[in-house]
Amino acid sequence: DLKGKTAIITGSNSGIGLGVAVELAKAGADIVINSFTDRPEDHALAAQLSADHGVTARYIAADMSKAEDCRALVESAGGCDILVNNAGIQHVAPVEDFPVEKWNQILAINLSSAFHTTAVALPGMRARGWGRIVNIASAHGLTASPFKSAYIAAKHGVVGLSKTVALETAGQGITCNAICPGYVLTPLVEAQIPDQMKVHNMDRDTVIREVMLLRQPSRQFATTEQIGGTVLYLCSPHADQVTGTTISVDGGWTAL
Ligand code: NAD
Repeated sequence: DLKGKTAIITGSNSGIGLGVAVELAKAGADIVINSFTDRPEDHALAAQLSADHGVTARYIAADMSKAEDCRALVESAGGCDILVNNAGIQHVAPVEDFPVEKWNQILAINLSSAFHTTAVALPGMRARGWGRIVNIASAHGLTASPFKSAYIAAKHGVVGLSKTVALETAGQGITCNAICPGYVLTPLVEAQIPDQMKVHNMDRDTVIREVMLLRQPSRQFATTEQIGGTVLYLCSPHADQVTGTTISVDGGWTAL
């Protein structure tokens, strides 16, 4: 039961971040969701979470590519007990053609944002003697694929950052871990399926099994609810001694 705890989830107006926010709200946590936009529908999403689950839910706009925005997010939330660093983007290109501004943007959003939010959230967690920091890394935090240099470098960095923060907080009631999802069925991934069906002239199930989930031995997507459930486990007393590690939710990807 997470009643009375406040959770900040970065990059959470869609996909995995929203799935994590829903699971935390179901468990009774007050929620701060975030993205870089500031549209009525972003705030409506928070109002919906609040109405559905009877918790306080706020939307705070902040651009996770900017250090000062990352820090302001945690400050204007009034700190947090649970910090889920989830915001992330991808760009695919060979190293020699990789646009410098894309490299910088991916390192900023996928890695540095977690450093900034953690730095601001930690003093409050220490003062209260309890905290959970969960970084959403990736199977690509542990393995590589061609053409994703920035993403993979950033995600490996997130795993390293998680271990370091775990050592700096050990024994203080605070844990820090990274979740490493394989392919997760988000709206973004769902939207790619019709295109892939056309390109490969395959039906939905075949294109999922034979093309999209080639590296995921289960040949099944993970779901945003399952990633949220893994966050809940890390927030539970069962996980008090789980710190500085990675939890793969990847259908066997990293066992190959
Ligand atoms: P998504 O695109 O649905 O979600 C990304 C979220 O980040 C969105 O809410 C978006 O608004 C937000 N965001 C993007 N740029 C931002 C910025 N500058 N400032 C603040 N917010 C920003 O994608 P997703 O699949 O839900 O990805 C969420 C996380 O999970 C990412 O870190 C991603 O690398 C990781 N991940 C996803 C998968 C997958 O298969 N979907 C697998 C492994 C890891």
